[in-house]
Amino acid sequence: MRDTRTAADAPAPRDGGRVKVLFPLPLYKAYDYLAETSAGLAPGVWVRARFGPNRLVGVVWPAREDEEPAVEPAKLKPIEAALDAPPLAPAVMDFVDWVAAYTMFPRGSVLRLVMRSGDALAPPEGLVGYRPAGARPARMTPQREAVLAAAEGGVLSARALAAKAGASESVVRALAAAGALAPEPIDPDPPFPAPDPDRPGKALSPEQQAAARRLIDLIAREKPRPVLLDGVTGAGKTEVYLEAVAAALRAAPDAQALVMLPEIALTLPFLKRIAERFGAEPAAWHSDLGAAQRRRVWRRVLDGSARLVVGARSALFLPYRNLRLIVVDEEHEAAYKQEDGVIYQARDMAVARGALGRFPVVLASATPSLETVVNVDQGRYEMARLEARYGGARLPDIALVDMRREPPEPGRWLSPPLAQGVDEALAAGGQALLFLNRRGYAPLTICRRCGSRMKAPDSDTWLVEHRFENRLVCHHTGFSMPKPEACPVCNAVGALVACGPGVERVAEEAAERWPQARRAVLSSDAAGPAQIRAILDAMRDGEIDILIATQLVAKGHHFPNLVFVGVVDADMGLAGGDLRAAERTYQLLSQVAGRAGRAERPGRALLQSFSPDAPVLQALASGDRDLFLAAEAESRRLTGSPPYGRFAAILLRSRNEALLKEAAERHRAAVPRADGAEVWGPAPAPIYRLRGETRMRFLVKTRRDIDIQAYVRTWLKRARLPGAVRRVVDIDPYTFL
Ligand code: ADP
Repeated sequence: MRDTRTAADAPAPRDGGRVKVLFPLPLYKAYDYLAETSAGLAPGVWVRARFGPNRLVGVVWPAREDEEPAVEPAKLKPIEAALDAPPLAPAVMDFVDWVAAYTMFPRGSVLRLVMRSGDALAPPEGLVGYRPAGARPARMTPQREAVLAAAEGGVLSARALAAKAGASESVVRALAAAGALAPEPIDPDPPFPAPDPDRPGKALSPEQQAAARRLIDLIAREKPRPVLLDGVTGAGKTEVYLEAVAAALRAAPDAQALVMLPEIALTLPFLKRIAERFGAEPAAWHSDLGAAQRRRVWRRVLDGSARLVVGARSALFLPYRNLRLIVVDEEHEAAYKQEDGVIYQARDMAVARGALGRFPVVLASATPSLETVVNVDQGRYEMARLEARYGGARLPDIALVDMRREPPEPGRWLSPPLAQGVDEALAAGGQALLFLNRRGYAPLTICRRCGSRMKAPDSDTWLVEHRFENRLVCHHTGFSMPKPEACPVCNAVGALVACGPGVERVAEEAAERWPQARRAVLSSDAAGPAQIRAILDAMRDGEIDILIATQLVAKGHHFPNLVFVGVVDADMGLAGGDLRAAERTYQLLSQVAGRAGRAERPGRALLQSFSPDAPVLQALASGDRDLFLAAEAESRRLTGSPPYGRFAAILLRSRNEALLKEAAERHRAAVPRADGAEVWGPAPAPIYRLRGETRMRFLVKTRRDIDIQAYVRTWLKRARLPGAVRRVVDIDPYTFL
């Protein structure tokens, strides 16, 4: 491990052996250490050193101009070891600094995102596998036969071999003792097979070719701008951007490419599709990965041998050696916003990563975000457009059901036209999708006697009934309890009633109406990703007639036989003070409707609404996306909202309500005056009490040309924060909970 290297490509150190080291801890600065050799250590080298009472792994960090004067060399602690691993690329370090400055989180916390796979620098040693040794033991059993046969396929650990052969590990060990299997060291992190960019992809239509050419042209440019790949669902955007991926991989022998997807779209079929295109599995990065898989991907991204990564938002922080392209698929998705820990918008950070690394970033969507559309209009981003669905498939007809005029029968949720739509789909041998973006059975449970609403004990959040499990669940905190027989407030028995529908309740109605149909419910309450995938596969293969689903169904899935989509509550996303409510409703509902009619069969979608005149619903029904975006842009421009202005949210939270209020007041008094900047608040957060804490928020709003981070920094420096109050800064907030 003690490979103290003298890095030839290090910039000359300023004074003998002194280096800066950044640790993956919530620290704003890098600390001075003394390297063993006077030549120092190059930025990017992984080192181990003492920090306080601990011995930690950190990274030699580039010295920045604005840092305070150095400590005397005599007082510096030594670097204990430089680790034997490829150094972190300069572009990754620049990115860490940039993200930290933008999000206002400590640099060390951002480095922590890069070092996610904590044990990756020290892989397990002494891992042993087995291969056939040629000899056959005197006594053979069917189990022994099976293990020997399994060992023919390559070197595997005892456990993997036993699992493959359906035998126990003791059989493997006995064969090794008998000399029939020979031990051999195995690499715990086998490299990923190289993708072959020269395998032919699908033959592209002329329109697709033109779009692909635009993306590929950017790759050769010195300072490419980001590009929006805009095309309706089913236009073949994936086929087009995979051409750009191929071109990026071809551009240099060590070039790497990243395709980012919202977590829920990262399905096995998608990975298979990529594997087919390039003849090799990509390195997948998402939250279901086990520790060993994470370590493998991390190490292989660092050493450059994982050349194609497909991942969720956190894949942006992997330690790429030479990243040359990022594709952000479904770029409008709110799932790109990371809301815990370091708060960041992965799409926006991807654009920054591309600018720092001087490579193109492709933003793909059928319903691009207003931010991106405005960036195209103002010439900051380029655009490639696909107008038609591939192979002549038609976009679904979308119509509205006015629930005031054609209401469902009492106690039911599906209006006569919607039920008829399902009838017709089934009669034609097609599939139907009923969409409701609400998990569980009912969003609200009320006592008919005393009127109390069932709440989580330490939060202002309603409990949602989950009837299959007979529990009341809080979707914010995860709190759950068995559904009580009696009202906890007035003790009335049998008085609790469910209000409003969730997917389980719609499923109950579907069971009554269409008892013969094969039905399934898809929501994140499913047992796990495997079950979700199984349901999606069954739907694709025509084994389900009616699927009742939340937004899990909206993304990227291709159901050739789906001909009808019924949206149970199209008004749902429009309530509340969310700046992007209309935009999100538009995106979600057109994605959902876009599931229908993807193959030869035309599709139809019906949206149930109590306010069918809302501009967003009218735009959906008329299919005029650009008119909607123009109106939405105008209203944001008039109010100075993003993307025409900047927002930052500051949340204060504490278990001590009196201290919280005092701190909020002190913050209010400290607000700096500045032209073009204003602060609203403090106001109680929409969920004031959460997990036993009370929460107050401020909203900072500035003109676009103002450095909002500098403004917030000036302000927060002036406002003292008691230890019992926590403060979270959210630049470009998406939710206001
Ligand atoms: P999008 O990403 O725009 O929704 P996809 O790339 O998923 O669209 O394409 C939709 C469907 O059409 C997929 O099944 C895809 O394989 C098919 N497809 C798209 N372009 C082609 C092509 N040039 N040749 C053959 N099939 C194509």
